[in-house]
Amino acid sequence: MLNIDLHCHSTVSDGLLTPAQLVEHAVARGVDVLALTDHDDVGGLDEARRAAREANITFIAGVEISVDWRGQTLHIVGLGIDPEHPELALGLSAIRDGRTVRARNIAAQLDKFGIHGSFEGACSHAGDGHLLGRMHFARFLVQQGYAKDAKSVFRKYLVKGKPGYAPHRWAPLSDAVSWIRNSGGRAVIAHPGRYKLSKGALDELMLEFRNLGGEAIEVVTSSHTPEQSLLFARHSQRLGLLASRGSDFHAPGESYFDLGRMPQLPDGCTPVWHDWKGTA
Ligand code: AMP
Ligand code: MN
Ligand code: MN
Ligand code: MN
Repeated sequence: MLNIDLHCHSTVSDGLLTPAQLVEHAVARGVDVLALTDHDDVGGLDEARRAAREANITFIAGVEISVDWRGQTLHIVGLGIDPEHPELALGLSAIRDGRTVRARNIAAQLDKFGIHGSFEGACSHAGDGHLLGRMHFARFLVQQGYAKDAKSVFRKYLVKGKPGYAPHRWAPLSDAVSWIRNSGGRAVIAHPGRYKLSKGALDELMLEFRNLGGEAIEVVTSSHTPEQSLLFARHSQRLGLLASRGSDFHAPGESYFDLGRMPQLPDGCTPVWHDWKGTA
């Protein structure tokens, strides 16, 4: 059976490996098909595609889009997108601009709390500062000794109700799904088990997503327990959605699953790659 990993991050967003290093890491772990899905940015896809071609593994162009749905942040992965599609490129560029505004707001919050220089600090962890995320603030705050690791820095500073939190409005779900579809890709709800939604709201989300033309949900991913994988396998079958498998790898030792080291999809799922060339 092929080893397929359709969710991971490079230094273009908040991962710690460059796109080429990520491909090398994937190859060393026996991955046959890899999608790079940086947050709101497609800038790593060319480098990753070249590295994958050299290493003779299959590469899928991807992205993970930050979305606002009923006041909740959701992530929608796009697989098989055309990164040059103007509508998608413009949409992602607007989200990145919004991220810079949010980062200024986060830094202003931390300033009020007596933590200074965090905007510049986050930028120094964000490559060229092209895309700024909370993980870059987390790495700065850990480096400054405010917390021992990323997990505790999020809990203490970067989530709702904490001193370094700034609310933000991301793209509407309908926009993200249409950018992905219009650029030739397939839209996937990332880590559906992670959202704080009631059972009813989760069902409404999956139905609305399907009505918009969304095609798949992640079933096996780092933030799902084995029980959640089985639960979302059942949801995918019930709703006629395809099932995806992705580690959400960010850095060695940081994600629960290393690249390609997750369990296979539960029996009975139709994989999101079922009709892709070379993945049978
Ligand atoms: P952002 O999109 O900038 O709001 O940042 C979200 C990213 O932060 C996620 O993709 C993860 O990489 C990371 N993240 C979110 N929550 C946590 C957490 N509790 N512990 C560690 N990393 C987290
Ligand atoms: Mn991330
Ligand atoms: Mn995510
Ligand atoms: Mn991710």
